[in-house]
Amino acid sequence: MKVGFIGLGNMGGPMCRNLIKGVNHEVVVYDLDPAAMAACTAVGGTAGTGLEALAAECDVILTSLPTPKHVEAVAAVIGAHAGAGTVLIDLSTNAPAVVRRLAEELAAKGIGFLDSPVTGGVIRATDGSIVIMVGGEAATVEANRGLLASFSSQVVHVGPVGSGSVAKLINNMLGLCNMAIAAEGLMLGALAGIDMGILAGIISNGSGDSAAFRGMANRALKGNFNASFALDLAYKDVGLAVDLAAEHGLPGLMAPEALNLMRMGRAMGLGGQDSTSVLQVYEKIMGKEARS
Ligand code: NAD
Repeated sequence: MKVGFIGLGNMGGPMCRNLIKGVNHEVVVYDLDPAAMAACTAVGGTAGTGLEALAAECDVILTSLPTPKHVEAVAAVIGAHAGAGTVLIDLSTNAPAVVRRLAEELAAKGIGFLDSPVTGGVIRATDGSIVIMVGGEAATVEANRGLLASFSSQVVHVGPVGSGSVAKLINNMLGLCNMAIAAEGLMLGALAGIDMGILAGIISNGSGDSAAFRGMANRALKGNFNASFALDLAYKDVGLAVDLAAEHGLPGLMAPEALNLMRMGRAMGLGGQDSTSVLQVYEKIMGKEARS
């Protein structure tokens, strides 16, 4: 069996390297960025020559791409060049409606599809403990469970296609709302003049703790805004969650506020920086840094 992996960025890169080390199959890797490719061929991946060739030669293809538009463009090439019986597993965070449409279009060509977004960030993508939530037919999930388990400690079959993406959007809506309030709270601590290291230590051990808070304390509070999870991608995720809420008539109260905070950050030119850059939005408005 030959496996393809397209999109070797912050998440795809480490997941692909764990896959290469964890399976006996040839893994053909492809990214627009040659440095991202080199980091995967260095551990045994085969450099793909292009999307069309990869689609034609691989039995299972994994994608980890930034936005639904990127996934749709790549899936169109796969649909045109992959043989019947191929399975596309999309690890990206995508819209449920988009993945359902993709699954239908690919099924018409005999190509299987699983929406399989992940949670745990770069750290857990790297140590192999990333959680994968899968939407799709049970038989396709079971046939590929071993492959997914080679780079994940938890592969959860949520339900039919689209359901993995629903779970992921709700997870990120919670995480990123937590991040927004973490930024607001830390800015308040800085303005009120208490020691930020002590404050972060108390919250990390207190009822205000969350994974998002710890991410903020470990990175933003130390002035590290290099993108591990870019603000642009976080904005995409909350936007997709807000769209899903509107689709179901849910009155949005928290998530639209977090989305606006991120929109302000992007308007300030912070979109390419880490999502914890929402702290910088408060810092710029208040004219004071929050650092430990
Ligand atoms: P990234 O921008 O670091 O990586 C995306 C990669 O895709 C880049 O290397 C880019 O060159 C490549 N790419 C784009 N178009 C391509 C194409 N047509 N062909 C080949 N390669 C192409 O993004 P990321 O942070 O790794 O995120 C990937 C996906 O995972 C996103 O959907 C994101 O929302 C999701 N996600 C990210 C995190 C995180 O913490 N970073 C966590 C969970 C889920």
